Order: sequence, then structure tokens, then C-alpha cells
Amino acid sequence: MMATKTCDVAVVGAGVFGAWIALHLAKREQRVLLLDAYGPGHSRSSSGDESRIIRMGYGADEIYTQWSQRSLLQWKELFAASGNQELFQKTGVLWLAESGNPQLRATADVLGRNQVEFEQLDRAALGHRYPQINLEGIATGIYEPESGVLMARRAVAATAAEAVRLGVEAKLAAIAEPHGSGTIEYVTSSAGEKFVAKEFVFACGAWLAKLFPAFLEDRIFPTRQTVFYFGIPAGDDRFSSPALPTWLIKNDECYGMPDLESRGLKIAMDQHGERIDPDTQSRVVTSTEVEEIRRLVAYRFPALAHAPIVETRVCQYENTWNGDFLIDRHPTLSNVWLAGGGSGHGFKHGPAVGEYVTRQILDDAEPEPRLLLASKETLQHRTVY
Ligand SMILES: Cc1cc2nc3c(=O)[nH]c(=O)nc-3n(C[C@H](O)[C@H](O)[C@H](O)COP(=O)(O)OP(=O)(O)OC[C@H]3O[C@@H](n4cnc5c(N)ncnc54)[C@H](O)[C@@H]3O)c2cc1C
Repeated sequence: MMATKTCDVAVVGAGVFGAWIALHLAKREQRVLLLDAYGPGHSRSSSGDESRIIRMGYGADEIYTQWSQRSLLQWKELFAASGNQELFQKTGVLWLAESGNPQLRATADVLGRNQVEFEQLDRAALGHRYPQINLEGIATGIYEPESGVLMARRAVAATAAEAVRLGVEAKLAAIAEPHGSGTIEYVTSSAGEKFVAKEFVFACGAWLAKLFPAFLEDRIFPTRQTVFYFGIPAGDDRFSSPALPTWLIKNDECYGMPDLESRGLKIAMDQHGERIDPDTQSRVVTSTEVEEIRRLVAYRFPALAHAPIVETRVCQYENTWNGDFLIDRHPTLSNVWLAGGGSGHGFKHGPAVGEYVTRQILDDAEPEPRLLLASKETLQHRTVY
């Protein structure tokens, strides 16, 4: 007979969302099980990369500016308490765009209203400060000095470790889709183990589409995303912080980071790639992907035109139709919750997501309409960046 484990809340998925949900529930004295098929922040998860941007600018989508503010405070608290301060790197974040870009205009309004420190830079100021970037087509910039980078994989590990310190039990288990209506008493793993709980949270990233095909297959769109690291010329500090901040170039739909921990300049496209299966997609970049990124690096960072690619990574976004997260109850099971749809920008928000889900479960808090399942459409039309 297989073992049975009992707790208040079983959280399935130990990426950044699941780890923070478990941590917030534990702070509210819940007995929590944190279950993951492969382990916290593993390399096939969206949270398993080395680094993720934390920025406050979100155009007119003020909810994400505010969640980012709350989250940065909590990340810093966690890192300070666990002696991991290096997991937040205050590189500053620089937005670059063409003249009159509506997202930058709206970002400046929202940052001002929310007391976020920022500077607006014109072309002359940008050229003076960032001579290592080719600014062709770029007319304006916003610089957030207090923002930067979370060292993602290790930040998830630190979150999960803190949750375990507070009593959460973390376990390797691949959980099957729960069926039925009303409430369930337990979920089952592929090894036949039963996990009994009062509430269940599925924070399964791109896997949500596979796990709940009946209603999420056409509402969560997992896409292939590639990341490249370019080697910096020997003895050259123009691509390290503070000379180069973390940057997003709206003209080219790309973003990247300075040479952190001597890994090289990180660069990635923010456009959605092809639809993939997160268990089986190839994690090897193609020659076409290499050529495209080389062209872009040569154009925007001419000094790196012949730089070697020193590392690559293939990951996935788990997009909703417009980029808003999905946080809601299962449509027929009232004690089963869904938390996902990070849509290429979710990592930074782990702490706020954990807080929000905890309040939904324990306090019956008023839900945010744009996060509900009912708001999720089946045709992609991205509006949140
Ligand atoms: C290339 C790239 C760049 C990005 N850049 C940024 C950025 O700069 N800033 C930012 O804020 N965000 C960014 N994001 C988005 C961010 O990384 C994701 O939104 C976030 O990591 C999603 O976390 P998650 O916990 O929802 O999913 P995941 O990290 O994928 O975790 C889901 C977990 O669920 C587990 N699981 C799934 N099914 C089961 C099951 N049946 N049983 C048990 N466990 C299961 C998986 O094993 C996995 O560990 C980026 C994403 C990518 C891919």
C-alpha cells in the first residue's frame, strides 16, 4: 500500500510562484506540502534560468508596477535574512524606445504616481552615458536606478529553503490532474502516493496547459524562448554594471543584462517563439536562432560583433492571451486553485503572487477580475509587457 501524506494545503509546482505561495501560507501557520515533478527551479522550468529582470515600469498596467514594488521589498528581505544579498543585483534598468513610444509615456506617468524613482533621458543624454550602444532609431529612455536583476534559479532555491525552514515539506512528486466537481480530498502522484489536503494549488507554469487540457490547452500558450550570453573582450568594462545597466530596447523587442558574475552580456528576444511541450522541447539553440541574435548584437553593440557566444539557454514563456496572470479557482473543483500564466514577466512578482493566493485561500479576499479564468481568451493578443 502506498503512503498517504496529510496537510492543510498541497502546492503543486515549486517554481517561483509555487515556492512563494508555500512560503506565504507557511507564514500564516498552514501545514504545507510543496510538490514538484523535477525539483524547485529545475532547468526545464521557466524559473530555472540564471537571472530575471525586476523592473517597476509596466506602461499603464499599474497593478504590475505595484506588485513589483511589493515584491522587490520582499525579495530583499528574504535575501537579507538568509545571507544571500547577492541574489538581487541593483544594476538599474534602462528602457529605450523610439520617439513618442506610448508604453514609455504611460510608464513615466505610473512611476511618478507610485513614487518610483526614475529619470527620463533624451537622445543626447543617452548617447553621452551609453556610448557602447548603437542608438539608431532610439529617441528616448527611462532609467530606474533602484531596479535590477534577481539571480533566478538560486532565488527560487532560497525561497523554497525558507519555506522548509518554516515547516513546509518539499517533495519530488508528479501529480495527476484531479477530476470531478465539488471538492476533492486528495491528489495522486505518478508513483501512486496520495496527498490529502483541504486546499490544493496548481502552480505548474507551462505544464498547466498539459495538466488541464479541457480548459487550459487553448488558454495557456507555452512558447520557445532562447537566451544567449556573449563573451566580453578581455579587460573591457563597458559591458559590466555600472557602465551598462539592464536594458530593454522596445524598437527591437529585445532585452538583456550587463556582464553579471562574469557570465557575459545576456541578450534575448521578447517576441514569442513557436509553441512547445516543456517536457520534451529541445534545449539546444538552432543555427537560425544564432544568426538572428548575432545580427542584433552586431547592430546594437558593435564592439561585440565578433564576440564568442559563451552560453545559451532555451526556456519557455507560459503566456495567457494578453499577458495577465491566471489566478483563480478550478472551474468545477472549489478547493483547487490555479496560479500561472507568468507570460514572460512573472518571475519578479513571485512574492506578490504568493501573498495574493494566500489571501484568496485563507481570507476569501476580493479577486482581481483581470486574473480570473473567465477573463482568459483563446486568441493571443498581447497587451501586458
Ligand atoms: C527566457 C525567459 C525570460 C524571462 N524573463 C523574465 C524577466 O526578466 N523578468 C520576469 O519577471 N520574468 C521573466 N520571465 C518569466 C518568468 O520566468 C516566469 O513567468 C516564471 O518563472 C514562471 O514561474 P512559475 O512558477 O509559474 O512556473 P515554472 O517556473 O515553470 O514552475 C512550474 C513548476 O511546476 C512543476 N510541475 C508542473 N507540472 C507538475 C505536476 N504535474 N506535478 C508536479 N509538479 C509539476 C514544474 O516541474 C515546475 O517546476 C522570463 C521567462 C523566460 C522563459
